[in-house]
Amino acid sequence: MSARISETSEPIDVPLLVGGRFETSSSERRGDVYNPSTGSVQASVPFCTDDEIDRAVQSAHDAQPAWGETPAVERARILFRFRELLVSKCDELAALVTREHGKTAAEARAEMQRGIEMVEFACGVPSLLMGQALENIAPQVDCETSRHPLGVCVGVTPFNFPSMVPMWMFPVAIACGNSFVLKPSEKVPLSAVKLGELLTQAGLPDGVFNIVHGDRAAVDALLAHPLVRGVSFVGSTAVARYVFETGTANGKRVQAAGGAKNHIIIMPDADLEQVTSALVSSAFGCAGERCMAGSLAVPVGRIADDVAEQLCRVGEQIIVGPTDGHGDAQMGPLVTAEHRDRVASYLDVASQEGANVVLDGRTRNFAGDGFLLGPSVVDHVQSDMRVAREEIFGPVLSIVRVDELDQALALGRQCEYGNGASIFTKSGWAARQFKRSFNAGMIGINLGVPAPMAWFPFTGWNKSFFGDLHMQGVEGIHFYTHQKMTMTRWFQSATESSADPIWKSGQQGR
Ligand code: NAD
Repeated sequence: MSARISETSEPIDVPLLVGGRFETSSSERRGDVYNPSTGSVQASVPFCTDDEIDRAVQSAHDAQPAWGETPAVERARILFRFRELLVSKCDELAALVTREHGKTAAEARAEMQRGIEMVEFACGVPSLLMGQALENIAPQVDCETSRHPLGVCVGVTPFNFPSMVPMWMFPVAIACGNSFVLKPSEKVPLSAVKLGELLTQAGLPDGVFNIVHGDRAAVDALLAHPLVRGVSFVGSTAVARYVFETGTANGKRVQAAGGAKNHIIIMPDADLEQVTSALVSSAFGCAGERCMAGSLAVPVGRIADDVAEQLCRVGEQIIVGPTDGHGDAQMGPLVTAEHRDRVASYLDVASQEGANVVLDGRTRNFAGDGFLLGPSVVDHVQSDMRVAREEIFGPVLSIVRVDELDQALALGRQCEYGNGASIFTKSGWAARQFKRSFNAGMIGINLGVPAPMAWFPFTGWNKSFFGDLHMQGVEGIHFYTHQKMTMTRWFQSATESSADPIWKSGQQGR
């Protein structure tokens, strides 16, 4: 059965992928997949049965030994072909991302580009897997390290990057010789199926990459499965912690990225135009559904009034509308009506706690049934208010005014998350102070979204990450491999030490 995800406009039954075959699930537990631009249901996603999940893991387990023995350069060649397919079908894949997530075409193409870069990184696996060696660490003793696949690895992914976040995981995992079972978000399962189709076309052997669908029950089944060795998770903090604790208690290696609350500090010497443009795109890009979105603007001193005014002025000019079609929307809908309503409810919370909603996205009128909400700005937020502490994950930007850089740095220390943070300034001194002491793992200087490219690790801190080895970069290679150390000593036999010249070692000649 072919997936044919992008070739139908009828609601489809989302297939799973087991052992190289797309299958229809027998499960009666199901969820709806919406087109957020129209509010209509475009697919039914099965919540796979225990038997289906077990078969997916078993097929990954059966395929892994031969795949792990395949020379790294041959594994890389399949990824090169996968990369070519992704490039040639980039627009089609981006349209699918837009159709299930709601982000604009430009944002979806940027998402695809980041995913393609992960594959390009993984194509370097023959070099990335190289170990270290030192001869003669003791007389006639040599020592070397080598890297070996874990076995069956699992990926559980969130709704906000239907293609990119899965590609943080499986290209690196399979490049390292592992097999993989992906459980995409049940809200956006279509892009993952398309990626599975392309991997098969690229020549990946059956069973090396599998897809199952579902909610917590599917994740629990994967976390408990004795054949699963590694688990990569990206999602909200509560679930990330749960997956990390459950997975490690079950003896698995786990990396789990969680939610975020990202500060953007604006020093009084910053260029207001540059700051406004960067803040607006950081906070409202992808409708604020990004773990690296700047959700807290922290103007220091006299610049605060100007920042607030500019954010409102530019924010209310953003064209918000459906993205699946030929509109001119600069910001699309949120992923579901439920999520849109949850985000909007934070504006009431902000008012109740004494902050000022100075741009209210709820006041915009939209035609149609899409899950739309305009950008909002909340001013005079105090650091202990819920809008300052909790991840909203939508187009709501809070302004926390402070008098000194030290107060801005203190906000970072109070924050339970630690994904990203940026500073806008012309002062090298302030930038350096910020870089060295702000309590977050990814730092931007005069940049609104300091999200690293594939070759660097995605280094969330605190409750934004549970585990030791992050996704992306060499840390990803290390996560998906065991390291082995081999120490070697060969004794010279009686024959070899005889007078026969054939055994002369030549050492004296050096
Ligand atoms: P989510 O935590 O609701 O879901 C993520 C995945 O976990 C999904 O596949 C879902 O099916 C599964 N899941 C949900 N509840 C579960 C449970 N109780 N037990 C086991 N599995 C469960 O997250 P989401 O709403 O899909 O995505 C948004 C979140 O992802 C935000 O918090 C965002 O910050 C975070 N995120 C973080 C990063 C990062 O790098 N730190 C990147 C992207 C998104």
